[in-house]
Formats: sequence, structure tokens, C-alpha cells
Amino acid sequence: MLKEKINQLKQWITESDSIVFFGGAGVSTESGIPDFRSVDGLYHLKYDYPPETILSHSFFMRNTDEFYMFYKDKMIYEKANPNITHLKLAEMEDQGKLKAVVTQNIDGLHQKAGSKNVLELHGSVLRNYCMKCHQFYAIEKIMEAKNIPTCECGGIVKPDVVLYEEGLDDTIVSKAINAISKADLFIIGGTSLSVYPASGLIRYYSKGKMVLINKSVTSYDKDADLLIQAGLGEVFSIL
Ligand code: ZN
Repeated sequence: MLKEKINQLKQWITESDSIVFFGGAGVSTESGIPDFRSVDGLYHLKYDYPPETILSHSFFMRNTDEFYMFYKDKMIYEKANPNITHLKLAEMEDQGKLKAVVTQNIDGLHQKAGSKNVLELHGSVLRNYCMKCHQFYAIEKIMEAKNIPTCECGGIVKPDVVLYEEGLDDTIVSKAINAISKADLFIIGGTSLSVYPASGLIRYYSKGKMVLINKSVTSYDKDADLLIQAGLGEVFSIL
């Protein structure tokens, strides 16, 4: 059954030349990066607030040092490497089949795998900027700082990551909408599609076929032309 479905997907990939992949946390879990929303009791033992609170704009502004303690501890995985899903997607782009990867992840693993057109809806932990003079800094700036990373100008350096309470980058969103609306094969993977903007963006998909790959049930299962309830690695390793 699973094999038949993967064969179907394989055939559709062969026939397509404008594939768009939309992915969430499930893409990177096999690289050892856990979904921070899957809150385990450990957070509560060590931190006074849930991750959604700590990763908010107002918390960053008010408790910058505590934000960075959590952020460096739970959000940065410097040693993580791309897995088979990242690698296959990069290969599909190389072959001219895949036009864009739209991701909710902030780990930069698609680029590390070789993907070029990556639309990072939530930004990237690899980019950081001074809130005062807008000088950009690499991840080392954050990791090497004793507590709050500061710019040469004295400004505070903030990750180029969309925090809770912050809006998405309009340019990235338009590019994502444009790519999705032109896709002849739209593959969604590793996301429950329960949170904005995922739920909003997939409405722009209009032609061709939609494939949903997710371990658990989503509210869009019935809309999929092909529904594969499996882990991404399991599927992409046979593609
Ligand atoms: Zn500065």
C-alpha cells in the first residue's frame, strides 16, 4: 500500500516540471532537530515560561538575556546535517523539476543540502542583525557572546527569525504564493498545517496535484490527491 503510493508520487514527479515543496518541523526531526512545540516536561524544569512565550517579541525586548539562554540551548543545532529529504529536494531542484522549497524551519538545512530557492517563512538562525545599525552577523556572534550579543555600535544583535507577535516578511510570502500558485505538483510534508501561515498559504494552490506526507492526521487530508501517512525519510529514501 505504502509502496504503491510512493510509486504514484514517483510517477508524478517524473511528469512534473514545476514542483513546489512546503515543509515544516517534520523535515528536520530526522536531522536531530526536535519540534520545539512538542513541549516536554523538561522545559518546565528549567524555564519559567513555555517556549511560545520565550520566543515572543515582547519577551525578547523585556528579557533579552533569558531569551538568549533558551534560544542557544533549544533552538540552535550547529552540528545538524541535512537528511535524505533535504538532499533529494536539492537534487530535484538541480534537475530543474523543483522550483521552490517553502519552509517553516529556521535551521538552514535546505541550503546546506544545496537547495537554492528556499523561501524561509520564519527566517533563519544563521542570520542575525544589529537592531540599531542593521549590520549582519553570522551565528558565531550569538554563540560566542557571553549573554546578550552586541554590535560594535553598541546595539543589540537579534536573530533574523520571526518571533511570536511578529509579522512575516511580505516579500517572502509573495514569492511563496507565486510559486505555490504556479506549481503543477505541490508536495506538503512534515507539517500539521494547523498554524498560520501554513493553513493560509496552501489555499493558493490551484492546479495539478497535491500530495500530503505526514505521520499524523491533518485537517487537509481530504483535499490531497495523494495522502501518504508516513515519515518523510521513509518516503524520500525510495524516491
Ligand atoms: Zn550596530
